[in-house]
Amino acid sequence: MRIIKFEKDIKLILNQLLLNQLIVCVKNASPNEACGLLFGEVKEIVHNGEYQYHFRGKKFSCIESNQKSPVAFLMKNLEELNRIFQEAFQKDNLRLISIFHSHPGGTYPSETDFTNMRFLDNCGNKAFKNQIWAIMNVRNMKLNGYILFNNEFMQIEVKIKNSKT
Ligand SMILES: [Zn+2]
Repeated sequence: MRIIKFEKDIKLILNQLLLNQLIVCVKNASPNEACGLLFGEVKEIVHNGEYQYHFRGKKFSCIESNQKSPVAFLMKNLEELNRIFQEAFQKDNLRLISIFHSHPGGTYPSETDFTNMRFLDNCGNKAFKNQIWAIMNVRNMKLNGYILFNNEFMQIEVKIKNSKT
């Protein structure tokens, strides 16, 4: 297992309703891996003189798939990912902020996940750069986030808000 640092200045912020949609997506996909895309906005915020990046989720699309690993499918079909991305941008003016999937136990990225994170960051499409990889543990529905930022893998903070904003 790699040791990766925890970066508290990068946050994935979701409200409870959105989190519930993630949980439903995971339950419906069981026993297969669930996968989905989170759309929203990224805000740069100065907090006590330090820069913070807030990835605010606004919309979630659960990706239904017969494939055991829809994430692997998407990584191999970037046109498909791009199509979903363009649609969200044109319809709701939201950008892709996070790629979501589930693990049967734990939330730590697999070696394949690390490879895919690097692949997506280097694929040349700027829209896919700096995506948070949100991983949910099926056993307890705990959600963690990871990002490749400045060429370094980091775990980021996931914040769940009760309000609708
Ligand atoms: Zn994974």
